[in-house]
Amino acid sequence: MTTFITIRLTCPVCATVFTSQAIGSSSHSGQDSDFRPHSLGLDPLPHYVHVCPHCCFAAFEGDFGSAEPSVRRAVLSGAIDADRIIGAEPRGALKGSSRYLLAARCYENDSRTTTLRQADLYLRASWCARQEGRSEREREAQTEAVLYFEKALEEGEVEDGQLQVILYLIGELYRRLGFFEMAIEYLNRSSAVQTKDSDPRMEALIGRQREAALQGRTENMTIS
Ligand SMILES: [Zn+2]
Repeated sequence: MTTFITIRLTCPVCATVFTSQAIGSSSHSGQDSDFRPHSLGLDPLPHYVHVCPHCCFAAFEGDFGSAEPSVRRAVLSGAIDADRIIGAEPRGALKGSSRYLLAARCYENDSRTTTLRQADLYLRASWCARQEGRSEREREAQTEAVLYFEKALEEGEVEDGQLQVILYLIGELYRRLGFFEMAIEYLNRSSAVQTKDSDPRMEALIGRQREAALQGRTENMTIS
């Protein structure tokens, strides 16, 4: 069950003071095969990101303390593309996918942001878009997530303990996008990673998604 608390935030870009709904508690049972949790009750995911209703600066609650000059410039110049992302949604009640896409655009202008965080923001945007029934936006966000996950691998940002899961996620996202050869290649690489405490459930999941890719299946699948 999901509970909310009302918080008061001050935008570090334009100084607007506003209230936002944050998550008090939440629980979930099961997940999709790209790790989107199945929440019990209202989906808490959109409410982890807060958006200034005036300038559209978007971030997690803990990052409202300050904004780097490069982030301020991007927000105030319109470079975060807020109008296109938001469309006709009311600014005081944005959908989850819009929140995460705005956050991704803000964080990409912040020098402290890791490539893995960017990948994760787009992955979460794709999860929200799926909930909202926006399949085109889901695919766009999945594509961005894949590119950032691959960049994180190239840059050596992925630690050994995360490697199997990240390779799996890239493979699974390629399967969902219909790039089956890439999906199989990454799922094979994921399967080949030797982990200290090998999880048989992870092995089984990789095998099942590899089979789905071999069969040319793109649909959403779940993990119990
Ligand atoms: Zn603002």
